[in-house]
Amino acid sequence: MFRRVLIANRGDVAVRVIRTCRDLGVETVAVYSTADSDSLHVRLADRAVHVGPAPARDSYLNVASIVAAATTTRCEAVHPGWGFLAENAAFARACEDNGLEFVGPTPESIELMGDKARAKQTVRAAGLPLVPGSDGMVTLAEARAIGQEIGYPLLLKASAGGGGRGMRLVAGEEELERAYGAAAAEAGAAFGYDGLYAEKALLDARHVEIQVVGDGNGRVLTLGERDCSIQRRHQKVIEEAPSPGVTPEIRQAMEDAARRACEAIRYRGTGTLEFLLADGRFHFIEMNTRLQVEHPVTEVLTGIDLVKAQLRVAAGEGLPATGSAALQGHALEVRLNAEDPARDFLPSPGVLERFRPPLGPGVRVDTHAYEGYRIPPYYDSLLAKVIVWAEDRPAAVARGLRALSELDVAGVATTRELAMEILRDGQFASGSYTTSYLRDAEARLPSLVAAEAAGAA
Ligand code: ADP
Repeated sequence: MFRRVLIANRGDVAVRVIRTCRDLGVETVAVYSTADSDSLHVRLADRAVHVGPAPARDSYLNVASIVAAATTTRCEAVHPGWGFLAENAAFARACEDNGLEFVGPTPESIELMGDKARAKQTVRAAGLPLVPGSDGMVTLAEARAIGQEIGYPLLLKASAGGGGRGMRLVAGEEELERAYGAAAAEAGAAFGYDGLYAEKALLDARHVEIQVVGDGNGRVLTLGERDCSIQRRHQKVIEEAPSPGVTPEIRQAMEDAARRACEAIRYRGTGTLEFLLADGRFHFIEMNTRLQVEHPVTEVLTGIDLVKAQLRVAAGEGLPATGSAALQGHALEVRLNAEDPARDFLPSPGVLERFRPPLGPGVRVDTHAYEGYRIPPYYDSLLAKVIVWAEDRPAAVARGLRALSELDVAGVATTRELAMEILRDGQFASGSYTTSYLRDAEARLPSLVAAEAAGAA
């Protein structure tokens, strides 16, 4: 195992990685921006290096500063977390070039899967079913031809995309030209690359993803699925596993498909293959080549520490197991964002005057927050994740509600109420929902009604 690891990130994930490093007796070096000098990850790490001013492009995205922080503190490896540089092939390469082990896939795998159009071609060659759509990138005229061939609604997506940006739903051909221009402009601004591809929009589908870990030599462990259909504007809000829509047969077929794709590219590290599931059939949409925000759901269901698995694979110590991990019970994750539903979910930075996370059986809270913490306005609004485990789904939902009612947070607006409204909702309880759930629940859930009113005002 490594002796010392630099964590090239902040917030929840930096804290998460430091904790496993400490469990393993690995020394940690944190990096931080000027805005984060009083952050929990800085306090928990053995050392911390200032890498730049508040804006992420000058600090957490500053490859030269971060690599220099790692080499001058004599780290052996760099854990990128998620977001920021986690899926940046040039960063992975810069680590390698400086004798640092990158705790993640090879730069080639990152490049391959980061180009979504190419990723789809690769997994199709491995026999995975895709959402019907274009073969790679399309011009406006080609998108029009695709629309005529497979029908509307169509989804235009950025080939370099992420976080739902550069994506446009097109209901009919008359909307295509405008949507194409808007998606390309948004993609160009967000990713510096405006290539688009087109897919059939499957609006009554579940978002189901398979967690994998590969050792880089063709051996792969699959760890079941997570259902992330509860989304607001393509952002995940609640995740759960097992998925209420996945039978043992579907699970096995999805895990087999994910394994084939990872074997084909000799995938190294943790990764997630995302699928849309409709009418019992699943279709690949993309692969994320990193640890995922919602990974704790899988950890509590399998008993496998995914950060430990990442570090072991990177250190050449192999996988915790191969085949399919056994799953036990039911797990739910609620994302608590510092956002104000009454102001259409605008981020609400400020001082956390009170913060008492829930405790007790079957509850885990992953967070970088603490009472008195000043949430900076520069980064994402994820404040904490409340993860609960129980023997079955009804017990997990009840435990989720119990945990959220214990959570005591004041000083900034959060999405706690919305999460409780969802957990109490009859349709959510039935388990029968798709990615349209929150849009359809807009008139029913008080937090969404308030957001709607604020958005219209
Ligand atoms: P990003 O990397 O930007 O998050 P994804 O490809 O993962 O992009 O898509 C984000 C979300 O958009 C998915 O979880 C799903 O809800 C929705 N989505 C993606 N592709 C389709 C599709 N073909 N039809 C319907 N919804 C889709």
